[in-house]
Amino acid sequence: MTYPNVVLKNASEQLKKRQEENKKITREKKEALYRAIPELTLINQNISITMKQALASGDGDVEALRTALTRLMNERTSLLREHGYDNDCLEDYYDCPLCKDEGFVNGMVCRCYEKLMLKEAYRLSNLGNRIETENFNTISLDVYSEKKYMESIVHKAKLYCKKDDSVKKNLLFTGPTGTGKTFLSSCIAKEFLDHGHFVLYLTATKVFYAIDMAKFHPEENGASQLADMLPECDLLIIDDLGTEYGFGYSQSQLFDILETRTMNGKHTVISTNMDLNELNQKYSPRLVSRILGNYDIFVFQGKDLRYQ
Ligand SMILES: [Zn+2]
Repeated sequence: MTYPNVVLKNASEQLKKRQEENKKITREKKEALYRAIPELTLINQNISITMKQALASGDGDVEALRTALTRLMNERTSLLREHGYDNDCLEDYYDCPLCKDEGFVNGMVCRCYEKLMLKEAYRLSNLGNRIETENFNTISLDVYSEKKYMESIVHKAKLYCKKDDSVKKNLLFTGPTGTGKTFLSSCIAKEFLDHGHFVLYLTATKVFYAIDMAKFHPEENGASQLADMLPECDLLIIDDLGTEYGFGYSQSQLFDILETRTMNGKHTVISTNMDLNELNQKYSPRLVSRILGNYDIFVFQGKDLRYQ
């Protein structure tokens, strides 16, 4: 797993909250039980005294104590049964019986804790519920006018998710609005998330905002946190590059971040409605060519899917 601290911290807080809630459930459940069956308190006290004696007795009266303990346990079972309960009602309540909500089993992270981290990674990715409906299982190539061509793009995107060497770690999706660029980004995001990677999906406007705020208003925690994650996340998806109002500082910062990511072998997907000429006009051609040398370019075409 390669989650940043913010995911680990939030997941650990949720685990702690879960532990506290379940302790409260257990406490209330037992209080109600002891109110309903007052004799239970005495039997339980006797059971624990007998157990302590058995432990302290060494080889002494073990057999007699064992008999006494069995008798007390049977008594308790009958008592509970008389009131319509079984022995399970004395157990503590846990969401995950495997790790008893501790998050670890034999020193390994429990599946339930992994799920909490994954959920948090999903939430922080900014993809919301979109990836539930936009993923490789729901993609329909029939809606594309250039079906064969789209097939090859989807195929490459799947190779990208498998980290196949035939596809670069950086992708640029270019093409008109509504030709499936964002959809394919979601598909890729879900694959990465489901394999335990940390994904950040942001519109270019949001990226530039985070960069500016981190520089000029570092006291804004959210923006600084976001800016910190830009170079760090395993997969960064920047949607709609070119629609932002960003100049000078934020622009050069972004290109620095993209270069750092490339150097560190991170994955990046950028989508834009601009073609290469327009990109060269908006950003400096030197920057564009320096960056794009490291990108595989997917050209999206066809009619606007949203009107079909
Ligand atoms: Zn667990």
